[in-house]
Amino acid sequence: MPIRDHNPAGRRLHLPIVGVTNGPGQATGVDVRGERKPPWLKVRLQSGPNTTQLKSIMRGLDLNTVCEEAMCPNIGECWEEREATFLILGAKCTRRCGFCDVMTAKPDAVDEGEPERIAQAVSAMGLRYVVITGVARDDLPDGGARIWAAAIRAIREAVPGCKVEVLPSDFRGGERDVATVIEAAPDVFAHNLETVRRLHARVRPAFGYDRTLDVLRLAKRLRPGQVVKSNLILGMGERPEEISPAMVDLAEAGCDILTMGQYLRPTQQHLPVDRWVTPAEFNEHKEAGEHLGIAHVEAGPLVRSSYHAGRQLERASANSSARVGGGAGL
Ligand code: SF4
Repeated sequence: MPIRDHNPAGRRLHLPIVGVTNGPGQATGVDVRGERKPPWLKVRLQSGPNTTQLKSIMRGLDLNTVCEEAMCPNIGECWEEREATFLILGAKCTRRCGFCDVMTAKPDAVDEGEPERIAQAVSAMGLRYVVITGVARDDLPDGGARIWAAAIRAIREAVPGCKVEVLPSDFRGGERDVATVIEAAPDVFAHNLETVRRLHARVRPAFGYDRTLDVLRLAKRLRPGQVVKSNLILGMGERPEEISPAMVDLAEAGCDILTMGQYLRPTQQHLPVDRWVTPAEFNEHKEAGEHLGIAHVEAGPLVRSSYHAGRQLERASANSSARVGGGAGL
């Protein structure tokens, strides 16, 4: 198979990550009343032998990773630990979220061979933890649930020890479609709330605050012991005191793992950054969230849903076990 440029247009996906390195075509690094980014958001891209090898395998199999598409600053760290995030069901989304740079357009036909190729890549890359994310496919009767399930099963078959986390859309609340994914037994089922109730309709117009919570609740109910995860992006206009009610809602919906990071505006057409959230404030939210009963909260300016996802699961399991006195854990 010919080697291809994974991102010929230089376009970025999953914007919450982008803008950190100020590469070509990226955001300017100036936002929030024209202030420069604070020092804690300036990072250097790292690379290592694993990263170079994994990149070449991905190109050979014609696959996308969010890690590369979003120019994630954590790529070197994650790939050196043999963790990667795949993007399935194409690069065109049927929805438009205010923070996200994925192209909104009529998606291409489903690539039936994609789950198998992802499994091949996971095997060739020797991955130990895989995150699968994908665009919303409201054009498909099942929202793509069949492909999500096929990807989980294909990875399991190819690499039995590899843990699989999925981050699908809400399938418009379709219980049968959520069940299709859950029946494939992902180690972690993630669905992101992204922002507080007051801002939700503006930031995630095609989603719904309560529907997102319902999807998490449903995942937890469908499969006993299913680990459920979510994410909040801070800096899109929420006030610090609005975070706690969102965490209460997530805890009540059964959320076991919560990630929280700083919003970075991908282009001038996207929502502006409202504030730079300090590392100290992130720590306060982490403590509050874990106090509310969420087994593990990973919070920090550069934290992304998939960042050290394997470690997040380990910590959540350890915290949960400790709380129930060394019992079954999550
Ligand atoms: S559903 Fe929203 S966040 Fe997800 S890819 Fe589409 S536009 Fe981006």
